[in-house]
Amino acid sequence: MNVGSNILNNFLHENLTDLKAKGLYNTIEPMESANGPIISIGGKKLINLSSNNYLGLATDSRLVDAAINAIQTYGVGAGAVRTINGTLDLHVKLEEKLAAFKHTEAAIAYQSGFNCNMAAISAVMDKDDAILSDELNHASIIDGCRLSKAKIIPFKHADIEDLRAKAKAAKESGLYKKIMVITDGVFSMDGDIAKLPEIVEVAREFDLITYVDDAHGSGVTGKGAGTVKHFGLSDQIDFQIGTLSKAIGVIGGYVAGRKELIDWLKVRSRPFLFSTALTPGDVAAATKAIEILMSSTELHDKLWENGNYLKRGLKSLGFNIGDSETPITPCVIGDEQLTQEFSKKLYQEGVYAKAIVFPTVARGTGRVRNMPTAAHTTDILDQALAIYEKVGKEMGILQ
Ligand SMILES: *Cc1c(COP(=O)(O)O)cnc(C)c1O
Repeated sequence: MNVGSNILNNFLHENLTDLKAKGLYNTIEPMESANGPIISIGGKKLINLSSNNYLGLATDSRLVDAAINAIQTYGVGAGAVRTINGTLDLHVKLEEKLAAFKHTEAAIAYQSGFNCNMAAISAVMDKDDAILSDELNHASIIDGCRLSKAKIIPFKHADIEDLRAKAKAAKESGLYKKIMVITDGVFSMDGDIAKLPEIVEVAREFDLITYVDDAHGSGVTGKGAGTVKHFGLSDQIDFQIGTLSKAIGVIGGYVAGRKELIDWLKVRSRPFLFSTALTPGDVAAATKAIEILMSSTELHDKLWENGNYLKRGLKSLGFNIGDSETPITPCVIGDEQLTQEFSKKLYQEGVYAKAIVFPTVARGTGRVRNMPTAAHTTDILDQALAIYEKVGKEMGILQ
């Protein structure tokens, strides 16, 4: 029975039908297991090459214990927004740890990485400002920029000359009070690393505010400390954004930077002021993860070892693995339909690796993206490679 607005019902029906006809409607398969190296979907065991759980921390018993202890002491919810009385000593401890981890004066935690970009950009930028944004930046950066009402000036992906030309034009136009340059630290579809030293140089030349969202870099690059650390630029990037939900294995986002920036965000960023604080269990688990990362590179090293192993394996089978500089391992198939089909066949054979196609990536560069983690074993990766070989040959992608 259809009740409610006819206009809405027609809109939904038409658009859903259209998406389904084009094969673009994404169905979601729930898992009956933790998001580890082997997952279970519909009673079927699959090798998991799709999570962002880079270090395997999402199921690490040390984080689980930390969360349980915190829940037993503080309960399951923070009970209020941070600025009323939702701030627990646990939040303060997490933020101190994050600042130490990122080699900055201070840090502020948010409920997610997405939320963090909603919060941080518009706390500083407004309609009198401009933002130079890499064209492949994450959706949450794009939305955060839009929310600020600043003029958005996209530059070609990782193209420093294009960035410089646009920074120069923006500066010389005299139209803007502040100009920011904003980039992902690691681009998640190709696994390439932002050219931060060159970006910092351009920023110095034109007095740009620098903003790096290192969601896929933290725990992965810079011996775990992230892409800014990787380049030795910890004191030169104004905003270092991270997420607690990828390599850190939990949930949440954060900004690390100078004390006055963090002080400002605490009084002016809306998700901090108007959305309930991270839960005690999440905060305690994330804090434990940061402690683990700061005390050892073991998981980081294992991640890279596994990433390199998978890359070597796919490459020697004859697949095109793109130009990734991180453990993110694309397997470029090209045609969208073929890519979807390839991913489906992998699934049937026991590998869960998602097809990523236009509009997420450029037309004709459809790929199956593999995300190995520190928790994978060589044996599991060998099984995955054998399945890749079988499916690749069956579909005529490999000779
Ligand atoms: C995943 C991602 C986010 C969102 O982080 P969540 O913590 O999952 O909300 C933000 N920025 C970038 C660059 C990301 O890759």
